[in-house]
Amino acid sequence: MDDWRIFGEALGPGEKRRTALHVPMGGLANEGEVMPGTRAGGDYELPAILINGKHPGKTLLVTAGIHAGEYNGIPAVIQVARELDPQAMAGRVIVLPCVNTSGFWTRHPRTLPEDDFNLNGQYPGKADGTAGERLADFFVREIFPQVDFIMDFHGGSRGERMTPLVFFPTYPKVRKTALDAAKAMNVGFIVESQATRGEYSYAARCLDIPGLLLERGDGYYCRPEWVEADRQDLWLLIEHLGIAKAPDVARDPALKRRVFREAVYLDSEINGLWTPAVDRNMPIQKGQLLGTLTDLYGDLLREVRAEHDGHLLYLDSGLAVRKGGFLVAYGIASSEE
Ligand SMILES: [Zn+2]
Repeated sequence: MDDWRIFGEALGPGEKRRTALHVPMGGLANEGEVMPGTRAGGDYELPAILINGKHPGKTLLVTAGIHAGEYNGIPAVIQVARELDPQAMAGRVIVLPCVNTSGFWTRHPRTLPEDDFNLNGQYPGKADGTAGERLADFFVREIFPQVDFIMDFHGGSRGERMTPLVFFPTYPKVRKTALDAAKAMNVGFIVESQATRGEYSYAARCLDIPGLLLERGDGYYCRPEWVEADRQDLWLLIEHLGIAKAPDVARDPALKRRVFREAVYLDSEINGLWTPAVDRNMPIQKGQLLGTLTDLYGDLLREVRAEHDGHLLYLDSGLAVRKGGFLVAYGIASSEE
């Protein structure tokens, strides 16, 4: 096999390399406080592990820390990158363990601190734009063309209660490939996503690259059992793609996997005190009370009810919710269960 030439590097067959991808920022990156491992010379510096299998196969892109406070995926993908043996691999893996590195070191849990850019919602960005736009553009131009599949790790935010679930893209050219991959993992809820401007969803919609987004854990906590579950699911995906055999993990055939044809997201129409009447991972019926919004005097402002039969996936646990703020997400069952 020829060397793998990527990001200015050349890796021989069976080679693993730690590096950093330099994203030109045109002096935009905040120079006030240069944090360890994040920037050099005004560029944005993305830590990366490139793993070139001895044998040919698919190229998998693994990302975590796009939302920098959604922690579980970060140590999980670092561990898998260390465990992967390129001599025993057929294919290639690019691991970016912490994409929003500036958010990570400044404890901005979600968006890029430089410009409040959401790296999972504002693609495709632009080459001469703000810091976040430049980062997204770098993915579109430099990274996506190199890969066959994208696996992106997320989790629930502060105040959220999350059921582990995996989103797959709705776009016809990639839908089945992604759904089959989702079923190879040990995640009970598999949700068809209509998203268009996230990392994996943009790649699926505009570049026909299949991918998945896994949500596990919540509250911006990092719990060992969530990290281990993420690690196992990444291994199962790597095995499913034919890149390497999972060392100590097996697909659980007894796990009930439910496919939802869409997720319904309810946001608040007003500022209010949100008190849910339901919890994650429970069936709901059309018309059922999902929660109430009251004011600071205790007067009822709104009742929030389900518009369809479904299954509650995740929710905000309260209390303060502003107009436009997220309340609940529920899935509508698919016939593919
Ligand atoms: Zn996220």
